Amino acid sequence: MARVLREVRLRRETSRVNLSAALNLSPATVTAVIGDLLEQELIVEKRAATSPGRGRPQMMLSLNADARRVAGAKLNDGSITTAILDFKGEIISEGVAPFSERKISGDTLKAKVDEALDTALAAANLRQDQIDAFGMGVPGFIETQTGMCHWSPLLAEGPMNVRAILQQRLNCPIFVDNDANLATLAELWFGLGREESDFLVVTVEHGVGLGVVIDGRIFRGGRGLGAEFGHTKVQIDGALCRCGQRGCLEAYVADFALLREAGAALTDDVSALGASELLDQLAVEALEGIEIPASIYRRAGRMLGLGLANLINLFDPALIVLAGERIRNHQLLETEIEKTLKANAISVDRLQTPITVHRWGDGLWARGAGALALDGLMEMATDR
Ligand SMILES: [Zn+2]
Repeated sequence: MARVLREVRLRRETSRVNLSAALNLSPATVTAVIGDLLEQELIVEKRAATSPGRGRPQMMLSLNADARRVAGAKLNDGSITTAILDFKGEIISEGVAPFSERKISGDTLKAKVDEALDTALAAANLRQDQIDAFGMGVPGFIETQTGMCHWSPLLAEGPMNVRAILQQRLNCPIFVDNDANLATLAELWFGLGREESDFLVVTVEHGVGLGVVIDGRIFRGGRGLGAEFGHTKVQIDGALCRCGQRGCLEAYVADFALLREAGAALTDDVSALGASELLDQLAVEALEGIEIPASIYRRAGRMLGLGLANLINLFDPALIVLAGERIRNHQLLETEIEKTLKANAISVDRLQTPITVHRWGDGLWARGAGALALDGLMEMATDR
């Protein structure tokens, strides 16, 4: 049943005949499943505007936008963003709750999620009990099956069971995942991955994340901790990473890695600048061609290129999407990424794996968190 729902979602509008062909299911099976989904009011049908031939008009199926409402939230550096989505994944309303701490406690996390969710609920004129599922994205090492966050650069305590904290308020199914998987779900549902069944999403934010889509679904590994690309090693005994180990990709590419070198590299007096301004200044000087700032980006580009080459060699993906707000300085990295890929990615008889850059801000992450809740609900529909 989940496969049928996914296919209807992907096609937006489709027929029983097309579903049968796309999913390689018998017409009788499709008719039975569609009957069940119509009864549950998860999908709706209407006559096609035009029908081929003279026979009965074809009935077209689509998701019932009003069937369920879900909320999603994302823990960002300095804020929680939320979005409320209908069953088709369209945004109904959004909310945001800023905080000033660099790392927050479980209590603050709960309070800020509450605040951002209340804003979104009020904007949509909805009550909390009208939300059918909740998805939460957190950067770090997340065990999706239990909702346990073993480590996050934005949480002061660890391990922390994020699902248990949210369950104190929300009386609906709660799904917690690594933020890179939210980006990947958003690409799969709404973005560049709609037409692909095997692709990768690499997120460059404060850290470097990876989402792996195999056969139209996210691969999460044995315990749901899977695909920690940012902590794969690109240098033996290399730079120290926030995770405590050395030589991680993140330790060369992420903001904290660039910041570590920015203070020493910048030519102007930068002592009064905050982290974000410091990074902007580094990028400006690199773009002007000043040697040391430019060399910092060149090295980051080489390291990211090496990581991407390893991914291509491992997965042979149809597409890699580079996503996230921080990818804005991609032009400073791309020459070195390209060179390193050429030298290290296996290429046989076809063109190199396409790598597409997709910049998106905090709002889309929250939409991805909503998609996580919808995906969980669709999975649960199979249990009936
Ligand atoms: Zn690490």
